[in-house]
Amino acid sequence: MHQMVALVISRLLVGLWVVMSWGCQSSDSASPAPVQIEATDNTRQVKQVAITLDDGPIMRFFSHPTQWHRTLVIDSLTNALARYQAPTTLFAIGGLVQGEEPAAQEGAALLRYWMEKGIPIANHTMSHTNFNELSLGQGIDEITEANEVLKPFAQEYNQTLKYFRFPFLAEGQTFEKKDAWNKMIVSLGLTNARVTMSNRDWDFDKRYMDAELAEEWELRYEIGQEYMAHMRETMAFWDSLAVDLTGRNIKHVLLLHANRINRDYLGQILFELSGQGYEFISLEEAYTDPIYSEPDEWFSENGTSFLEHIKQTRLKNAPPPAEADSSGGDDSQGEEP
Ligand SMILES: [Zn+2]
Repeated sequence: MHQMVALVISRLLVGLWVVMSWGCQSSDSASPAPVQIEATDNTRQVKQVAITLDDGPIMRFFSHPTQWHRTLVIDSLTNALARYQAPTTLFAIGGLVQGEEPAAQEGAALLRYWMEKGIPIANHTMSHTNFNELSLGQGIDEITEANEVLKPFAQEYNQTLKYFRFPFLAEGQTFEKKDAWNKMIVSLGLTNARVTMSNRDWDFDKRYMDAELAEEWELRYEIGQEYMAHMRETMAFWDSLAVDLTGRNIKHVLLLHANRINRDYLGQILFELSGQGYEFISLEEAYTDPIYSEPDEWFSENGTSFLEHIKQTRLKNAPPPAEADSSGGDDSQGEEP
């Protein structure tokens, strides 16, 4: 409540200063300059979002007919990011870039292709298995082995691995596993790369792929339009929840995948975000927001935004409502709604 009052007062003061300074400039330029009231970080109205791409080097690798098609995905995504000067982080799957087989060799070449374009990589496990299905030891292996595989790539390009993201945003179904995995992540010098804007781009991508491979262009177009409507709706929803939870604009992290549908629509997504006033920031900058330090004591079967985790944790820990005066009441009279 205090936060809200402070927010309203700060906004009024900022508004007052704008009116005052306009008045001074137009009527009397010799007047002393008005005292500037700096908006604190809590009241800043700038919208910010960090873009992240999962399942590098590219999602559904084998569905792309040729190496040219696979490279096109990376070119299109990085061109769109460059156009909007949007920093991004690529979460790569270790198993796709390790080994002597031709596919792994090409995977490694594609990962280097991203890095040559200046994109930092991060750890997205070895096999991309859902951690809800893994034993504690298997999960630890997934995290550490991927780090060993990806570290030489990072060093080759003077990068440091900084982030880890759970596949499907699933962190196991027990506190014991979740704590152990998160401790392992921290011990490797990594940050659990939480997401505030989640969505179902991977689901649309599957249908988009099927339409494309079947050369059903009208259907592919329709799926693209549905996808954009879905993205508009989900991004607005999570932003609204963030404001509900914090009373301010937070530094968002948007989860997307390095896939076919974003090959064709990332530019439009960035255009629309930019039109809504969003600034594009790095993941490092996003995680300076205190929202990411909020306790998370909630599990979800299907991965979702960290904002939902915060909301459910707060609801779980909220004190029960004060009991109504029950001295004269008779509970047996009450009816279930
Ligand atoms: Zn993934």
